[in-house]
Amino acid sequence: MPKPTLKALIIPFALAIAALAITLFAILAPSKSPQSDQFTITASNFALHDFARAITADTPVDNSLLVKPGRSTHDYDPSPEDILQIQRSDLFIYVGGESDAWIERLLDEQQISAKNTLRLLDLITPETEATALEAETEDHDSASSDYHSSDHATDIDEHIWTSPSNALQITQAIYDRLAVAQHEQITSSHRTIFAKNLKTYHAKLNALHQAFRDISHAATNRTLVFADPFPFRYFVSAYNFDYLAAFPGCSDESEASPQTVAKLIDFVNTNKSNSIFKIEHTSGQLAQTIADATGAKVYTLHSAHFITPEEFNRGLTYLDLMYSNAETLNQALSSNLDLRSLKDALK
Ligand SMILES: [Zn+2]
Repeated sequence: MPKPTLKALIIPFALAIAALAITLFAILAPSKSPQSDQFTITASNFALHDFARAITADTPVDNSLLVKPGRSTHDYDPSPEDILQIQRSDLFIYVGGESDAWIERLLDEQQISAKNTLRLLDLITPETEATALEAETEDHDSASSDYHSSDHATDIDEHIWTSPSNALQITQAIYDRLAVAQHEQITSSHRTIFAKNLKTYHAKLNALHQAFRDISHAATNRTLVFADPFPFRYFVSAYNFDYLAAFPGCSDESEASPQTVAKLIDFVNTNKSNSIFKIEHTSGQLAQTIADATGAKVYTLHSAHFITPEEFNRGLTYLDLMYSNAETLNQALSSNLDLRSLKDALK
């Protein structure tokens, strides 16, 4: 019988040690995932996620953003992992408009728990989507209209967070839920921190609220002309701006009819507007066309729900985006206010 080599002796021994290590790891490793015993908030879009993380800052609450940066909430379908994420959440925050029909379906099917959800459209008076051109086009030849007045007449605008006055109510509602949350991880000292965070955040939102009121009051021309979709119904209502838009809400229409183009150009020329607006994620081609034809300048307003991965990773916040909107409007509408005190208030 040949003598076994050293290698032949060592290999089975090494394999046995490895098998033992795997078994030990399986026994000793925690069976629950680390976040499963954490209080978790999931929010459907960036603005809502940012509100939740502001109110829960400096506490162990785990905040998740459902629709990731770079994705649109309007053409979103949840993956099985997303549904699991919502099911595991202690609080799920969503708007409750047309884009969230899938959430209402999951609630109906009792796949997600109603008591762990916060539907924000329940908090405020809904506005309907509109372009402000619709009423006029309806009176004329409807065949030439590309505004589909009857389709949009009752569509609820989902972009409730675009107005800081609504953001005050949304953050209050998030706090109210946290204040009564029963969870082993939430202590009375955490509740004190939530209250302090809310107070600080409300001071900042109130500063923005006042700044937008002042900008609107001081503006030489308060009509915002959007050569783009128009997700700012709540904003213009709250701050007494007039508006004219190529497309309602976050319409995926991007081709404006010659009538729309003519109407926008005519309005800008007649009212001697110096500014034309677009929103953050569009090409701005239509706005540029109107600008080229009228000499107006193109400005971008951020609706705070199309955030890029780069902006997200940079730590951009709702307050940053709203401050940027305040600066833009202050310049575009020649309000010429000194915004340094607003900048200080938002620090
Ligand atoms: Zn939208």
